[in-house]
Amino acid sequence: MTAKVIDGKEFAGRVRAQVAEHVERLKKDHGITAGLAVILVGEDPASEVYVAAKHRQTVEVGMASFEHRLPADVSEEDLFALIDQLNADETVHGILCQFPVPDHLNERRVVARIDPAKDVDGLSVVNAGLLASGEKGLVSCTPLGCLMLLRDQLGNMSGKEAVVIGRSNLFGKPMGQLLLKESCTVTIAHSRTQDLAEVCKRADILVAAVGRAEMVKGDWVKPGATVIDVGITRIPHPEKPGKTKLLGDVDFASASEVAGAITPVPGGVGPMTIACLLANTLTATCRAHGLEEPEGLTA
Ligand code: NAP
Repeated sequence: MTAKVIDGKEFAGRVRAQVAEHVERLKKDHGITAGLAVILVGEDPASEVYVAAKHRQTVEVGMASFEHRLPADVSEEDLFALIDQLNADETVHGILCQFPVPDHLNERRVVARIDPAKDVDGLSVVNAGLLASGEKGLVSCTPLGCLMLLRDQLGNMSGKEAVVIGRSNLFGKPMGQLLLKESCTVTIAHSRTQDLAEVCKRADILVAAVGRAEMVKGDWVKPGATVIDVGITRIPHPEKPGKTKLLGDVDFASASEVAGAITPVPGGVGPMTIACLLANTLTATCRAHGLEEPEGLTA
């Protein structure tokens, strides 16, 4: 079997177009401009790239983008003062602080300071709890993106065996919750899981989020399974000196011989994350104004 390659870049473009359409309608019908505020502490080069991409895509879908840059030695008190100000600002519907932050700041305390209704990264304990109890909250962007890709591929997932490798708060746990909500039978595997290959082989839906390049081999994959590769490892490019290359957690060459559908790295899950950040900001805007939520863009 040669798997269908799931084009996350194209799908993310469709999600952004849908978001842009809703944003336009909010402006026209209600005079509301959805707004996303991004806080960047320090000058981490990778974070600079992410924040620039977020800003560009936010503006492209017609939202207001507010960028706040703070020095690397900013005190927690000053950072919290900014977050409090953004929490109170009615033109700001989503807030995210780009991680990692410098060591003297605590990421969990930073997330906890953000109003859960504006926590468009879906990382707060409140939003994690709402997801776990099956209530409406904001869902972490990468798992939400994977859910959208899976819904697009499979439609109804009820009764399917799903295996998620990785149990982080950022990805593995919310992904497991989302698949459970879809009525899958869910296994969350991790570094202590025994016979991981055998566990994976049960999966109709296999989601890998570990960060170990090409760990999942073709003979771990059930024939016809849908494989979602979340992992990202950057290695020196084997043919282009001075350049780097991204690898996923799945050995694409062997897995794509067995799977029914598979996401590549790059160009699979990656592009969905910012698209879902924008979808979450739109959802937060609609909720803030008591308006109907966009269909297909939430969990
Ligand atoms: P993380 O917090 O480091 O979690 C990794 C998980 O993998 C842990 O639960 C760990 O188990 C498990 N693990 C480690 N070694 C394993 C092994 N040999 N067998 C089975 N499980 C193992 O990472 P994360 O934040 O969830 O991210 C995971 C990967 O996804 C990373 O490569 C990250 O870059 C990528 N990612 C991509 C996006 C995107 O595309 N936008 C977004 C988020 C994450 P224990 O809990 O037992 O230690």
